[in-house]
Amino acid sequence: MRVLNYDLFEPEKITVPAPATLYTKINESARQQALVTPEELRPEMNELPDEKELARRFDMYNFVYFKGKLPRVRVIYSNRMTSAGSYSPNNRIIKIGRRYHEIFPEEINDTLKHEMIHILNLKHDQVFKKEAERIGASVKAQTHPALSRPPKYVYTCPRCGQEYPRQKRLRMASCGKCSRGGAYDERFKLKLIRSARKSLG
Ligand SMILES: [Zn+2]
Ligand SMILES: [Zn+2]
Repeated sequence: MRVLNYDLFEPEKITVPAPATLYTKINESARQQALVTPEELRPEMNELPDEKELARRFDMYNFVYFKGKLPRVRVIYSNRMTSAGSYSPNNRIIKIGRRYHEIFPEEINDTLKHEMIHILNLKHDQVFKKEAERIGASVKAQTHPALSRPPKYVYTCPRCGQEYPRQKRLRMASCGKCSRGGAYDERFKLKLIRSARKSLG
């Protein structure tokens, strides 16, 4: 793992659990009870739930966390998507990335909850973050190196030539090998050497 100073695009990870008020405790126990179904207890742990089961979990979370106020949306798998999940407000579809969850099957409920918040809040704004904390969902879905697409941008160090492939633009970053003491160093500011357009398909 290469060190990169001031990488402003590290994925954000929020692991704050929902506050243990009486209300959330009741919800939590309801959730746990509701989750203990034969579907959950089957031995093949890596097998993903089918779409019927995803719809059932949607209804359950809607009831437990949103007082049933969310409109029903379709929950389907995407076999192509490399990210964990997405929500499309135009056709009201939550897509669950099959490839991602074949690697991280235990995260599928977290992904579903995250995407359900998007039904009310499209952006990852403060309201979204509060909701994610309240219901115990991740703010941003994790990505996995095995799923990563070819880099959109490749940066290089002007001194040592180390390459830094990235999916996002870097605003201010210097080479981790050349910069002293882990601090940003203007002399070793990374230079953009390649930028690829997103390929559609
Ligand atoms: Zn999101
Ligand atoms: Zn360097």
